[in-house]
Amino acid sequence: MSKKTISKWLLFFLVLCLPGCAMLDVVQRNSPPALAGTREPGPPANSQVHSVIFFIGDGMAAVQRTLARLSLGDPAPGRLLSMDRMPVLGEYMTHSADAIVTDSAASGTAMSTGHKTNNKMLGVDPSGKPFPTILEQCRNSGMSVGLITTTTITHATPAAFGSHVAAREDELQVALQYATLYPDVLMGGGRDNFLPTSQGGKREDGQDLISRFRSKGYAILETGEDLSHFQGKGKVLALFSRNEMAFELDRPKTREPSLFQMTQKGIEILSRNPKGFFLMVEGGKIDWACHANDAACSIADTLAFDRAIQGGLDFAKKEKRTLVLVANDHETGGMAITKKANLAFLSGAKASIAQTASFLSHDKSIDTAQIVSDNLGIRDLSEKEIKKINSLRQEDAREKSYIDNSLRNALGELVAKRSGIAFATHDHTAVVGTISAAGPGAVEFTGLYDNTEIPRKIARLLKISLP
Ligand SMILES: [Zn+2]
Repeated sequence: MSKKTISKWLLFFLVLCLPGCAMLDVVQRNSPPALAGTREPGPPANSQVHSVIFFIGDGMAAVQRTLARLSLGDPAPGRLLSMDRMPVLGEYMTHSADAIVTDSAASGTAMSTGHKTNNKMLGVDPSGKPFPTILEQCRNSGMSVGLITTTTITHATPAAFGSHVAAREDELQVALQYATLYPDVLMGGGRDNFLPTSQGGKREDGQDLISRFRSKGYAILETGEDLSHFQGKGKVLALFSRNEMAFELDRPKTREPSLFQMTQKGIEILSRNPKGFFLMVEGGKIDWACHANDAACSIADTLAFDRAIQGGLDFAKKEKRTLVLVANDHETGGMAITKKANLAFLSGAKASIAQTASFLSHDKSIDTAQIVSDNLGIRDLSEKEIKKINSLRQEDAREKSYIDNSLRNALGELVAKRSGIAFATHDHTAVVGTISAAGPGAVEFTGLYDNTEIPRKIARLLKISLP
């Protein structure tokens, strides 16, 4: 190349680069300061995936994450959740086979089997034919497997990984299938689904599944103290409540462990297997909080979930071969953080809306204004509002589902009015899911894809099949 040609090329590059450099300079000068520690590198990204910890925040979409993050305080610079610090971020579509808006059963099935199914169906296709799940395939390849949740352990999300049932309401059947699959770790609520009616449970088939697990060598745990005393050797069936576990705001009044404690113990037990493990951990009650339009509860349960995630990340950082994923099944409530958002008001909540509604409907002697003030921090109830709540107290709310409860929904409206956190619905919405990833293979989870891709990516990284 002659000198003349070289100088021509130099000139060409200068002309190309200069506007770009100038633009970069403008962007840099106008940008806010970079968030301190926005992304942490996490475990090495290039080693073979040996184990997977799959965190699923039920109903926890980007907006629920945002609200929990904002509750930490001034967002600039760098007040981030642990899940925010994970190096990889992706998105995925959540629709089910028969609806734009999924439920936890169909989305759980998509994320456990790699196939779409209809709402309310678990681990089966729309005709009822079972799909193998990623958890079962991990078990078949010699890995240890576990399920942890804050709802009943037979609820839709964990059940989608460990059972095949055409109707998610059939939690008794899910429990029965667990007593065939025998996952190494099962922790959550829902003891009644494992016990016969003669022992105060819900099973009308007379089967005592807890005894069956015990005879298989399982340790049976019932309280947070049991869990902390447990040495972590052998398999565990831990059922900490008769039905779902408490909201994080209400948990101090119970003997239940935190999701962090459960996750730590789960990892301790499962990681003894030299062939690796698969653990699904569900922050299950973020969804229930948002069904009740309870923003304070959504924050508390998301923060509790985030602490459990930090425990998983700490383990993965040391162990180096564990992939950590944090996803959600769908959004719940159509939550919106408006300009009127009042996080200081929300921080005054001392109990969940659900528990407050339960007290109001069960104990007619309770003063409405007093308990709404004590539990929810609302000190300015109008006469009209008190009258409305009192009229709903006459109805017995005990038998209603967690979506369809008029007293709870009315309290949710009172809180929304004062907190500036609006909700479009008491049900789910169709917004994309958000996934954070750290560890080997994490980079596979960038971009926008379908929720059915998630278990397929996991299977490829673990080098196991998922038909
Ligand atoms: Zn839900």
